[in-house]
Formats: sequence, structure tokens, C-alpha cells
Amino acid sequence: MSKKENNTCNTCMSDLTRRDFLKVAGAITGGLAAASAVSNTALASSGGGDIPLEDQKALFYDATYCVGCRECELACKEDNHLKEENVDDLSGNTFTLIKLYQSEDGGESSFRKYQCMHCVDPACATSCPVGALEKTDEGPVLYESLKCIGCRYCMQACPYGVPAYDWSQAYPLIAKCDLCYDRHDGPACATACSPGALISGTRGELLKIAKERIAANPGKYYEDRVFGEHDGGGTSVLILSAVSFDKIGLPPLTEKAIPHYGETATRAVPYIFGGAAGFTAIVYRATMTAEERQRLGKKQGKEEGETE
Ligand code: SF4
Ligand code: SF4
Ligand code: SF4
Repeated sequence: MSKKENNTCNTCMSDLTRRDFLKVAGAITGGLAAASAVSNTALASSGGGDIPLEDQKALFYDATYCVGCRECELACKEDNHLKEENVDDLSGNTFTLIKLYQSEDGGESSFRKYQCMHCVDPACATSCPVGALEKTDEGPVLYESLKCIGCRYCMQACPYGVPAYDWSQAYPLIAKCDLCYDRHDGPACATACSPGALISGTRGELLKIAKERIAANPGKYYEDRVFGEHDGGGTSVLILSAVSFDKIGLPPLTEKAIPHYGETATRAVPYIFGGAAGFTAIVYRATMTAEERQRLGKKQGKEEGETE
């Protein structure tokens, strides 16, 4: 951009050029229409695809087998090239976390592995006004950074508090587990779990294993049931625990999928706010520095390369 073309407004924080401004103005109209149109696509596709649910990829965590060694956390970090950090919650650099529940009287305790549950009908995808989160036919719920406008509705919508904002980026992006979508030998965390607390496979196979364990150990597992078979419409991460689900931080959900609660309101969100958030993002993108664009492009390139 030459200085001649530069039309700097003294009251603005950034140098918004005339060309950028026209780009932004044109994009607002298109952005609003696109946001609404794509949100419909997201709503339509959020329930999964052509592969039967029992044949989709899944992960089974049996908390009674977990010894808290955290090899799964390390494997996830290595496989996803995430930085080491000491945090209490999922973050832009922590896609999975092992936490210990201990009752006050020391009577009962259990580990719990936190990560994206890969919901059968994900609220994050339904709430996203631009379709940046999508339930794949294979089961994992994936995120596309270049579509993301940074509105963070997915963070509000997720009943498990999973999507995190990666503040280490100049253009902050959502970060979460992708169920190791591109790995052919199963999720890295499951491969690393030597005590056998994590098993990967199809949802049908894993439900069968979980139910066999319940049948073989009457009274061992909480409510003799698998969390995620039906909770919140079902998830692709299935959990068994000896301690009650609420104590290990799993939300009390009915069998109804989250996107179907207050569906009218949920559907209205993208239309009402998508334009405002889209406008902010469009202005931001139009004024991104070359370095920021390069960094975002590299991140997206890596994601595309990994999914090929
Ligand atoms: S690797 Fe397995 S046993 Fe170790 S903390 Fe993770 S889930 Fe638990
Ligand atoms: S757990 Fe949250 S982020 Fe993961 S698929 Fe479900 S709604 Fe989306
Ligand atoms: S499935 Fe992959 S991305 Fe998700 S927690 Fe396990 S290793 Fe991390």
C-alpha cells in the first residue's frame, strides 16, 4: 500500500485505507447474508452425516482404570505441538486435562479426563453463525479457523465448557480437541494410556465394551450406565465412573440434544448477532498486518495439511 493511497483517519486506532473501507462496506452486506446462509448449513449439518452412529469414531474413558499418570496429556501436547503450561482448565494449549475429585472426608475419589465430548448433535456447531464448527460424518467435531469470526458463541453454547480462546495468537482463535481426526492409529491420548483407561474404536464397539464391564461388575459403576450414550443427545466420548457424574464435573443433561433446548432462540442468535460479530471480524481482517495474515495463513495451512 503506497502512502498516496493511504487515507488515514486521525480518530481511528488503525490506518483504515479507502480500499479497505470499501472492502469492508461491501463485505458487511455479503457477510450478513453469508452468515445467515452458512448458519443454516451449520444447523442442518450439526446432527452428523451418512455414517451410522455406531460406526463413527469414538473414545471410551473408564475412570476406574485411570491412575492419573497424565501420559494422555503429554501425548496430546506432543501430537498437537502444544506448549507446556500449568493450567486448571482447558486452554489454547491444553486440549485435555486430568483432574482429581476427592471428597472432603477422603472417602471417595476419582480421576476425570476433560476434553471435547464430540457431541452427536453439537451445540457449538449450531450456535456458530458462520459454520466454523462442524460435526463430521466420521464423528469428530472439527473447527476451521479461517471461517471463524471470533464471536465466541460456541464457548457460551457448549454444555461442557470446552472451546477455549487461544490468546497467544495476534488474531485469537478457538482451540479444542479434534479427536485426532487425521491419525490413522487412533487418538494419541488413547495410544499412550497403558493402564487401559482410554480405548478408541467405533461408538458401537465401545458401548458394547462399557456395557459388558457394567454387567460383569454389578454396583461398581455409577447408576450402572454409560455417560454419553444418551446424555445431551449423546456424545462420541463415553465415560464410566464409580463416583457420581456430577461430582466429576459432568453436567446433568436430559436425553434431548442441547441445540434443541430453546431452539427458536438458538436459531435466532446467528441472525441477530452474526452481523455485528461478522462486521467486527471483517474490519479486523481488513486491517490485519501482513505478518498477522501470514501467521493465520500458516495456521490454516497446517490444519489443511493435517486433514489431507
Ligand atoms: S494415560 Fe490413562 S491412566 Fe494415565 S492419566 Fe491418562 S487416562 Fe489416566
Ligand atoms: S463438547 Fe462442546 S465443543 Fe465439544 S462437540 Fe460438544 S458442544 Fe462442541
Ligand atoms: S483425541 Fe487427540 S486431540 Fe483429543 S485429547 Fe486425545 S490426543 Fe488430544
